[in-house]
Amino acid sequence: MSDFTMTIGGEGVAAPTTFGVVDPATGEVHAQAPDCTERQLDEAMAAAAGAYKDWKKDETTRRKALHAAADLLMANAETIAPVLTGEQGKPLKDAAFEVIGAGFWLKYFADLELPREVIQDDDKAFVEVVRRPMGVVAAITPWNFPLALAAWKMAPALLAGNTMVLKPSPYTPLSSLKMGELLREVLPPGVLNVVSGGDGLGAWMTAHEIPRKVSFTGSVATGKKVAISAAPDLKRVTLELGGNDPAILLDDVDPAKVAGKLFSGAFQNNGQVCSAIKRVYAPESLYADVVEALAERARSAKVGPGTQEGVKYGPVNNKPQYERVGELVSDALSNGARAAAGGKPMDGPGYFFEPTILADVSDGTRIVDEEQFGPALPVIAYSDLDDALERANGTHFGLSGSVWSADADRAADIAGQLECGTAWVNTHLALAPHQPFGGFKWSGVGVENGPWGLYGFTELQVLHRSKR
Ligand code: NAD
Repeated sequence: MSDFTMTIGGEGVAAPTTFGVVDPATGEVHAQAPDCTERQLDEAMAAAAGAYKDWKKDETTRRKALHAAADLLMANAETIAPVLTGEQGKPLKDAAFEVIGAGFWLKYFADLELPREVIQDDDKAFVEVVRRPMGVVAAITPWNFPLALAAWKMAPALLAGNTMVLKPSPYTPLSSLKMGELLREVLPPGVLNVVSGGDGLGAWMTAHEIPRKVSFTGSVATGKKVAISAAPDLKRVTLELGGNDPAILLDDVDPAKVAGKLFSGAFQNNGQVCSAIKRVYAPESLYADVVEALAERARSAKVGPGTQEGVKYGPVNNKPQYERVGELVSDALSNGARAAAGGKPMDGPGYFFEPTILADVSDGTRIVDEEQFGPALPVIAYSDLDDALERANGTHFGLSGSVWSADADRAADIAGQLECGTAWVNTHLALAPHQPFGGFKWSGVGVENGPWGLYGFTELQVLHRSKR
């Protein structure tokens, strides 16, 4: 039995079987989630298709409903936060912040204009370009920010007039189920359906005949499968995938001054952020100081269960990911890297890993070349800036990156040469609802957020009235 129900056609629905959800702070199953059957998915899709008929008609109703949904989520932040912490691991304060952030995103889109552009108005014709909804959206999210990333999809998709079936990660289904339950109060039945299950449920969704759009956030490997699965009936796809963000420090930075921001850009959410700093390139002249400034922060970072007061960094979310971080760190250490801080799992239960700074490491090592997605950061020395830039770009990833310098113009010039969707100067992870977010190369297809993200949930229609 699960205390959580799916939301299908506005009703709370249990599944015939459930699956266990692990609390990463203990490594133990602490709750059960419904395991959606294929028939229940059909029902959710049919409910979304049914609701679409009315939902697409009235923009004012949609705006009001999105505001009400945002208010309700924000008012319940303290109730949802423990559910999110229990399954994801992040500190309660961060969990509440995520819920409020989801509300903030809903509000931003609730007020965003759906443009109607007149492109011709003369004696021949009156021609407009308008944005039309697509139908049912299949939304699939990962385990690092289940609610925030669901809101990135729900807010623009629903505002544009689409309806949705949302599937969270099997590691973190509970907070999304809870959100679905709450929003039954303010969204018409079928507009938002929330189902839970394993990876196979995601595959059923992308192959299903009803959705016209798949909005996916997750790994590159799964993103490619999603693209293939969506291709036969030409579903539109937005793919927000992995990253291996470089941060390049120029030779005029003060390591002590930038260390705090660099550290939080890398270790926020325990390093489990698609666009976190995943490798630092520091000039040889500053290398030792950069490593030490970061290591000092890592040593003093307070790690523990997210429910514990004062904890800043929780456990790694799940066992495979915890093992992967350990494997990449061990691989680097056995290939000549030095752990300036951390370097191993922490004693005791749960998936806790010491915040780790790796020095004397370079490209060609797995932790530099692959996405570690956890609390371990390699710092790489460089002697030639062009070479560092080439190495920063020498990857299939292209999500984001940053350049750090006392001279912001010089840094912006270098940042502009990064092959990635967001290039920051003297900051990292500065995200906002009005700022489009997406990746170059294997980091994604399309963008989320801002009007550009909204357009991704629309089809462009030309409305041509002849005047002759
Ligand atoms: P994942 O790809 O394993 O899973 C993501 C989601 O896809 C889950 O809900 C999962 O159940 C589902 N899924 C798995 N197989 C599927 C299939 N064949 N068809 C359809 N759905 C399927 O990713 P994860 O481990 O949950 O998340 C970590 C990854 O997500 C990292 O690579 C990270 O960088 C990336 N990420 C990207 C962004 C972004 O906006 N670019 C944001 C957060 C996370």
